[in-house]
Amino acid sequence: MGYSAPLRERRRADRPQTGDLKLCPKCRLHNCEFNPRYRFPDGAVGPAWLCEAAGCGFREMVRSTPGLTGHDLVRQSRDVQAVARRKIMKSRSKTARSLERIAATETRLRKNS
Ligand SMILES: [Zn+2]
Repeated sequence: MGYSAPLRERRRADRPQTGDLKLCPKCRLHNCEFNPRYRFPDGAVGPAWLCEAAGCGFREMVRSTPGLTGHDLVRQSRDVQAVARRKIMKSRSKTARSLERIAATETRLRKNS
């Protein structure tokens, strides 16, 4: 009992690795390097392809869920916290039931001895 399904994997199976290179689709002269934690100008941090050429400026966000925003991340974070709180509550009630059972057993043993 108590084994919940693992959280859904958001990452694609074919997700690029740090340092992977591909030809830049914009300038077609230089490579794009994959960065798993690129900080975008709006402050969001996420996986992205970045052109190595200073003058090109190609940036492509890599998300299996298009348009994942900060609000989505906050919601996902709340979901994780809610799951953790439920586990804590279940654990506490299980501990309380176990203590009650131990106390009842000790009472019974004292009566019978
Ligand atoms: Zn480029």
